Amino acid sequence: MALQELYEKALRLIPLDTKEGIQLYTKAPVEELMFVANKLRQHHNPGNIAGWMIDRNVNLTNICFSQCTFCNFCRKKGSPDAYITSTDEYISKIDELFLLGGDQLLLQGGMNPDLGIGFYTDLFRSLKKLYPSLKLHALGPPEVVFLAKKAKLSYSDVLSQLIEAGLDSLPGAGAEILSDRVRKIVSPAKATSEEWLGVMRVAHKLNLPTSATMMYGHIETIPERIGHLVKLRDLQNEKPDDYYGFVTFIPWPFQDEGTVLMRKHGIKSSFSGPDYIRMIAISRIMLNNIRNIQASILTVGKEIGMLSLHAGANDLGSVMIEENVVSAAGARNRFNAEEMQLIIKEAGFIPGRRNQKYEQI
Ligand code: SF4
Repeated sequence: MALQELYEKALRLIPLDTKEGIQLYTKAPVEELMFVANKLRQHHNPGNIAGWMIDRNVNLTNICFSQCTFCNFCRKKGSPDAYITSTDEYISKIDELFLLGGDQLLLQGGMNPDLGIGFYTDLFRSLKKLYPSLKLHALGPPEVVFLAKKAKLSYSDVLSQLIEAGLDSLPGAGAEILSDRVRKIVSPAKATSEEWLGVMRVAHKLNLPTSATMMYGHIETIPERIGHLVKLRDLQNEKPDDYYGFVTFIPWPFQDEGTVLMRKHGIKSSFSGPDYIRMIAISRIMLNNIRNIQASILTVGKEIGMLSLHAGANDLGSVMIEENVVSAAGARNRFNAEEMQLIIKEAGFIPGRRNQKYEQI
């Protein structure tokens, strides 16, 4: 099919198949992709507001059995610098978060083999008791798979217990690339593609807001990138119309500094600014049923973040008061609330502060 026909099909919100997505990704001029993606962004989010938020990424522990080859953050049990975050540390971090105007913790692993579901439900309950207005955007499909196997529970039971204890939304962590060929190399001990999708399917049935992500630019092929988007879109199509499903999609590039993938296998990040813009645009074009596309300003920096807002993205994510995982592999772009708003204005948009459900606040 000619490129023009594919653009028209996308603009009519007809889903493009994997082959058509690959054709656009590899053949279309980036400025044409940006034009189409920007029109679609206007369809899904009319107007001139670009979203941002304040939250804090706290790691529950850095002990993780997964040992993903792109991760510099994890430690083995017994390492001198292994930790489990204490209640006092949560209190001082949350107090600071509230002082800076945020109300959400992005709580992530490691996957510590000693911690079962009771640890997480107790923690969520005690944090919610101390801070009733706190929002918990916590864990991710790999943790749910691990907790379900450990306790011999269904995904539905694990998620229901977590929700009952205070989980407000489920991050799309651990998606990397939804191809088991890739996962066997970058994250062999983590959930398989089907497991990741299976947890999200159940979360959507429970009407738990979720996000979808992609960590790309390592060993995956372009068909695997496009296949990832198609899998997300197909799953989103299964959710009931008025349920949250995937509220947003966030692609970010592999950060290679000091990782096993780079040190032992010589895999460098293939990230480039123009390719990120292409990735954002193709995400908007392929994901015709996910309303929000977020550019990862933390990993791609100010200029590419600004350009992404003209390429289909409608959000620059969080000022992220604390982040420990991607920053351990080289992502060092940090912005405070004032800077984030200036960046959005400089890009020609109106900053719109939002919550995790992408509701303006
Ligand atoms: S990326 Fe997450 S799951 Fe993988 S090793 Fe690091 S902390 Fe563990």
